[in-house]
Amino acid sequence: MKVGIIGGGAAGLMAAATITETHPEIEVFLIERNPELGKKVVISGGGRCNVTTGLRDMKTLFTKYPRGSKFLSSAFYGFPPEAVFEWFETHGVPLKIEDDGRVFPVSDNGNDVVRAFENLFEKHAVHILLSHTAKLVEKNTDGFIVHCTGHSPLVVDKLIITTGGQAYRHTGSTGDGYGFAEALGHTVTPLAASLSSFISRDTWIKELAGVSWGYAGLSTDRAATPPIAGPFLFTHSGITGPVVFAFSALAAFEPATPKTPLTIFINLFPDNTHVQIETQIRAACTLHAKKSIENIIAGFVPKSLAKNICGMAEIDAELHGGDMSKKQIERIAQTLQHIPIHAIGRGAGDEFVTAGGVELSEVNPSRMESKISPGLFFAGEILNVDGFTGGFNLQASWATGRLAGLSIAE
Ligand SMILES: Cc1cc2nc3c(=O)[nH]c(=O)nc-3n(C[C@H](O)[C@H](O)[C@H](O)COP(=O)(O)OP(=O)(O)OC[C@H]3O[C@@H](n4cnc5c(N)ncnc54)[C@H](O)[C@@H]3O)c2cc1C
Repeated sequence: MKVGIIGGGAAGLMAAATITETHPEIEVFLIERNPELGKKVVISGGGRCNVTTGLRDMKTLFTKYPRGSKFLSSAFYGFPPEAVFEWFETHGVPLKIEDDGRVFPVSDNGNDVVRAFENLFEKHAVHILLSHTAKLVEKNTDGFIVHCTGHSPLVVDKLIITTGGQAYRHTGSTGDGYGFAEALGHTVTPLAASLSSFISRDTWIKELAGVSWGYAGLSTDRAATPPIAGPFLFTHSGITGPVVFAFSALAAFEPATPKTPLTIFINLFPDNTHVQIETQIRAACTLHAKKSIENIIAGFVPKSLAKNICGMAEIDAELHGGDMSKKQIERIAQTLQHIPIHAIGRGAGDEFVTAGGVELSEVNPSRMESKISPGLFFAGEILNVDGFTGGFNLQASWATGRLAGLSIAE
């Protein structure tokens, strides 16, 4: 049997490895447009490659996927994070779990992750077609024909499409697979950037560039997006950081344009009630009755932010603590827990993953096989599956790639 795999990223590598290890008699052709394998894997996690997560509880694990968690069930029970961990360790990549639960190679080098596959493919003689771009995919009675640059049409019995999403396009993931899926009868859902920063129209943000905050809540009045909390950072043009990425995933399909800005509310004290904050401000105003309110607030938040808090609460920053009225203290407390940011765009090209993809109801979740075109399989980010930061996207790619490989080899 001949199997074609289009895309030598995380999912394609794992699918090829699985087939060749379980059924070495199957001829595997791995087609990759880049001159090297796993370009995105290598740069992931800032070059350290956050391979998977240290999370072991499946229920919690599924909460890390804004889209596709139910679909991932079979793939994850078959190849959970601990199995991924073990797989890499037994293939010569020792891993470590960091305090925040992220898993990295001990070497902190993403190249080692890809090298594990290269070593395996050398041993098993997988046909690696580097610098070959798939242009067209057809199905006939015998199987699939892949037309790619620099090669005569490749005829295979089964085909796995693992071309990824369309984030960080310069890594080769340009979204070609969506067209291949459609050509073979599949539906592709609307696509959107996920795990991105936001650009804000609020000019005051510029003054705060570089100011970070360890734990803030983000919410919006658009009902579809639940509130979420974590670290964030002001940039010269907006906001970024782990909680912003997570929020962007939840709000991936919410418009954020100059015409329809997305109002994001920042709560600097998400673990405190409004009354608690008010009480603390009142106590500080009493204690520092002769200090300006700006300086008093600077005891709670960075100084550059304190001035803006006064502005947003419409209170003279020079007003003394002892002169603050009950209403004014209330307004300060309210602002600290409800700073509005008007997002008019997402950081262009800086998103980590694509939300949306091949419609999941058209793919068998226990095999990763198309329900429309038998013999066709999908794995990885091309599917309408995406996770938060923390190793969850690679985990999904390894697990679905493995399941596609096992199903093909059956
Ligand atoms: C900067 C960055 C950092 C990230 N860090 C992490 C992290 O630390 N942990 C984590 O879990 N996730 C991370 N992600 C997300 C994760 O890397 C992806 O979700 C994952 O790589 C997707 O795997 P995939 O195999 O589906 O697709 P990809 O890894 O994108 O691979 C697709 C491959 O297909 C090839 N291809 C596409 N079209 C064609 C064609 N027509 N012909 C031939 N080849 C083609 C591409 O060149 C590419 O190599 C990060 C993403 C980015 C952009």
